[in-house]
Amino acid sequence: MKTEPTQLPTPVTTDGLTNYPPIEKWDDWVEYDSKAWPKKVPRHYTLVPTVCFNCESGCGLLAYVDKETLEIQKFEGNPVHPGSRGRNCAKGPATKNQIYDPERILYPLKRTGKRGEGQWQRVTWDEVLDDIAARMRKAIQEERHNEIMYHVGRPGHDGYLERVIQAWGVDGHNSHTNICSASARTGYVLWGGFDRPSPDYANANVILLVSSHLETGHYFNPHAQRIIEGKMDGAKLIVLDPRLSNTASHAHHWLPTWPGSEAAVLLAIANHLIQNNLYDREFVRRWVNWEESLKALRPDWEITFDNFDRLMRELYAQFTPEFAEQESGVPADRIIEAAKTVANCQGRLAAHVWRSAASGNLGGWQVARTLFFLNVLTGSVGTPGGTSANAWNKFVPKPFAAPPPQKKWNELLLPKEWPLAHYEMSFLLPHFLLEGRGKLDVYFTRVYNPLWINPDGFIWLKALRDENMIGCHIALTPTWNESAWYADYVLPMGHAGERHDLMSQETHAGQWIAFRQPVRRVAMERQGQKVNFTYEANPGEVWEEDEFWLQLSWRIDPDGSMGIREHFESPYRPGECITVDEYYRWIFENSVPGLPEAAAKEGLSPLAYMRKYGSFEVTEENYTPYEKKVAGLEGLQSTNGNLPSPYTTDETSRVLKDGQVVGVMVDGEVKVGIATPSRKLEFYQPTMAEWGWSEIEYTVPHYLKSHVHPDNIDRAKGEMLLLPTFRLPTLVHTRSANAKWLYEISHRNPVWMHHEDARRIGVVSDDLVKVETEIGYFVGKVWVTEGIRPGVVAMSHHLGRWRLQDISGVNQMSSALVTLEESDDGKFTIRRVHGARAYESADPDTSRIWWEDVGVHQNITHAVHPDPVSGMHCWHQKAINVTKAGPNDHNGDIMVDTNKSLQIYREWLATTRPAPGPGGLRRPLWFKRPLKPDIKQFYIVEEQTKPTE
Ligand code: SF4
Repeated sequence: MKTEPTQLPTPVTTDGLTNYPPIEKWDDWVEYDSKAWPKKVPRHYTLVPTVCFNCESGCGLLAYVDKETLEIQKFEGNPVHPGSRGRNCAKGPATKNQIYDPERILYPLKRTGKRGEGQWQRVTWDEVLDDIAARMRKAIQEERHNEIMYHVGRPGHDGYLERVIQAWGVDGHNSHTNICSASARTGYVLWGGFDRPSPDYANANVILLVSSHLETGHYFNPHAQRIIEGKMDGAKLIVLDPRLSNTASHAHHWLPTWPGSEAAVLLAIANHLIQNNLYDREFVRRWVNWEESLKALRPDWEITFDNFDRLMRELYAQFTPEFAEQESGVPADRIIEAAKTVANCQGRLAAHVWRSAASGNLGGWQVARTLFFLNVLTGSVGTPGGTSANAWNKFVPKPFAAPPPQKKWNELLLPKEWPLAHYEMSFLLPHFLLEGRGKLDVYFTRVYNPLWINPDGFIWLKALRDENMIGCHIALTPTWNESAWYADYVLPMGHAGERHDLMSQETHAGQWIAFRQPVRRVAMERQGQKVNFTYEANPGEVWEEDEFWLQLSWRIDPDGSMGIREHFESPYRPGECITVDEYYRWIFENSVPGLPEAAAKEGLSPLAYMRKYGSFEVTEENYTPYEKKVAGLEGLQSTNGNLPSPYTTDETSRVLKDGQVVGVMVDGEVKVGIATPSRKLEFYQPTMAEWGWSEIEYTVPHYLKSHVHPDNIDRAKGEMLLLPTFRLPTLVHTRSANAKWLYEISHRNPVWMHHEDARRIGVVSDDLVKVETEIGYFVGKVWVTEGIRPGVVAMSHHLGRWRLQDISGVNQMSSALVTLEESDDGKFTIRRVHGARAYESADPDTSRIWWEDVGVHQNITHAVHPDPVSGMHCWHQKAINVTKAGPNDHNGDIMVDTNKSLQIYREWLATTRPAPGPGGLRRPLWFKRPLKPDIKQFYIVEEQTKPTE
C-alpha cells in the first residue's frame, strides 16, 4: 500500500536541484530576480503557506512574499499539505493574477443611483458595519428573522459562518448545493447517512468514474494525482461519459452512455455480480439491512439471507446488458467487459459521482445510489482501495463555543414541497419571492453570482432589482460579477492569500486540516509590524469575511441584550470581542488531536505551528471505522438474545441504552456501525416509503427514466439533448474572470456537436448555431467532433460573461459588453456590442489581449427542473431545435420568455409530494441540514391543527 507523504519529500535531487525550498529556509529563501537577467540579483522571500480558494479541494499553496517590497512574487504548492502534497492545478498559481488584477474592487462601495444603474460611492468599513448591523438588529427585534439570509457560492471554510448565523438566531443559511450536488448527496445519504463518497484511488484495483472527474472533479488535483497513481499501479479505469473527455481518453473502458441511462448500465453490472454469485455475500450479510428489506418487500418470505439473495436476483434480473444497451446505446458486450472488471476488484473499487449524470437528470440521485450499490456488492466500503464516507476522512474541529440551534424554520429555504431536498432550494429563491412566499430585508451573497450561475437567470434579475422583494442586497465578493451589479453594497473580500479559513476535505483515506492565511499580513507580522485587521495588509481595503462577521455581529447587539454578543466574546479576554488570532488559537489548542503535541516538539504554540506549516495531518488512515467496537461495550454478551440491563436490542439488531441507539450488534459484537437509522447500509430505504415514495423504483437502488430519456427527445423533429454539466479544468465557475493566465488558455465555450448532426444541419466548426431551449434560445459557435454522442450537444457551463457598461462590471478581458432589453410580455434579450478587447491599464498585459470571443451565457436560457425528491436542478435541457444561425443571429445572442420559464417551474412543482411526513414532520429528523434548527421546528403539526378562521 502506498504511503501518504506528510513531510517534505527529499528536497535535493541527484543533480543538486530542489523540489521545494527546505522548510528551514522558508523564513529567508533566496532566488535570483528573473527580470534582472543576465545580472544575478538575489531577492529574499519569506514563504507563507496558505490554501487555494479557487475550488473546493483546499490544496496547499506557498506564497513567496518579497521581504523588501512585501509583494507576492508567486504561489507554488505547499509540500507538507497532506491532500495536495505540493501539487496544484493551473488555478492555484493563478491566484497571483486575481490579487493583482487591475480591475479588482479595492474599497467598499455603496449604490447611489437606482439598482442596476451602476453608480457607486466609496464608503468606509465603519459606515458599512453600522448600517447593516442596525438593519439586522431591527429585523431581529421585530421578529423578522426569516428576512435575513446569507447565500454562499464557494464556502471555502469549515464551520465558521455556520456558527455566526446560529449566533444570530436566524434560519438563514442558503447554499448553491441544489445546482451542484444535491442529487448525488441524496443517493449516498439513502445508503449510509453520509452525503459524499471518498474513494481511495491510489490503492484501488478498479476506478469507476461517472464523470470527467480526473480532469475537473470535485477535489480535482488531490484526486487526479491519486487516480494516476492507482492507474500506474495497475488499476483499471472505467468512465461513463457521453463526451470523449480527457478523463475518458485515459480509460480502459469508456462507456459513452446516453445522458440519463447511467443507472441502467450500473444495474446491469450489479446484476452480473448477483446472478453469477460474484458479490461479497459476507459483507452484504453483515452490513446491509437485508432483514428489514425482506420484511418490507417480501413480508411472506422467511427472513434468511438466502431469501434476500433470491430477492436481489428477482429485482435485478430485468437489468440485462441488452436492456442497458437499449437505454444507453453502449454495446452489451462492452458493458459485460466492464462488469467483469468490476467483479475482479477484490474489495478495491474506488467509485465516484458528484455532479455529472447525478446532477443532469430527473432521478439522478439513483445514479449515486446504483453506483454505491457496486461498492456494497464488492465489499469495497471503507476498505483500502475502496470508497469511504466523506465523514470518515474529513476532520472539522469544534470552535470555542457553539450557539444553540435556531428556533426558526425558513420556508424560503426548505418549503414543504421538497421535504427530502439536499439542501436548500436555492435556485428557486426568486421564484418563491415572486410568488409572495416571503421577502428578504438583508440578503448577503457571498462569493456567489446567482443571476449568472443559476438556471432561469432573468427571474433572478427580476428579484434582485426589486427592493420590495430584497430590501438590501450585500455582495461580498473578490471580483465584479453580474449579480453584484444589482447590489446595494459591494464589499471586496480576499482571494486565497488574503484571508483566514480552516479547511479539510476527504481527499484520501486520512484526515487533515489546512489553514488559509492572509500572507502579506503574516509577512508583516514576521517583520514585527502590528496589524489590527487584515484589510490593513491587503491591497486597498480588501477584507476577509472572518473579521467582517465578528465586527458585524458585535455591532448588531451593542449592549449584549439580544444574546448575540456573548457568542463573540474572547475566551481569553472576557467581555471583549474575539480576534481572528484568538478564534483559531483556541481551535488549534483544544480541538485538533495531536496538534499541541506536534507543536510542542518544535517549541511552538499550536497557532504558530499552523502559521508556519499551513496544514496538519490528523489521521494518517481511517479505514472501515464502522467495524470499530463501541468503546466500553467490547465485552457485552447476549444471553438468549437478551443484553444485560440497561442495554437492549431491537428487531434490526441495534443496541440501545435508555432508549438511545449506541451501536449495532453484528455477529455478537457491538459495532459503531453506519450513520443511518438502522446503523446498517440501507438497501431498502424505509424513509422513502414513509415520505410517500413507496414504489420500488424509489425505495431500492433502481433506474428512473430521466426527463431527457430518448422517449422525450424527438430526434426526427430535430430535437436534441443539451448537456451543460461539464467544466474546463482551467476555469473557476465565475471567479476566473480576473485571472489573465487562465483566460488566455480558455475563454470560449463552443457547442460540441457530432459530425452526423453537423452534416444534418449544414454546419462546420466555428459556424454559428442557434440552440432553442424550452424557454428561449442562445447563439454560439459550434465545434464539430467525434467526441460526443450523436443527438447530444454539449457546452461547458462557466463562460459567457457579460457587463452592461464599457469599463465597469465584469473584467474587460473576460466579458462582452451587451445590451439588455425587456419587453412588456416578459421577454428578455441580450445582444453583444463587442467581446473582449485590449485596453490600457496598470498591467501591460491587458493591452495584449488577442481574443474577442468570450463564449455564451447558456444557463440563463435554461428552464428550472427541480427534482421532486432531491430538490436538485436537473441540468440537462431538451434542445427544441438546433439550427444553423440565420442572418439576424449574432454570436452571444440570448432571448428568454420568463412567462414560459415560470410555467415550467409550475409543471415541475406539481410533481412534488409535499410534507408533512410521519408525525407531522417537515423533514426526516435524520436527514442533514447545513444548520439544523431546534428539533421543534421540524414539526408542522401545530400549524395543521390550527382552527380554520
Ligand atoms: S484543485 Fe486547483 S483550484 Fe482546486 S484547490 Fe487545488 S490548486 Fe486550487
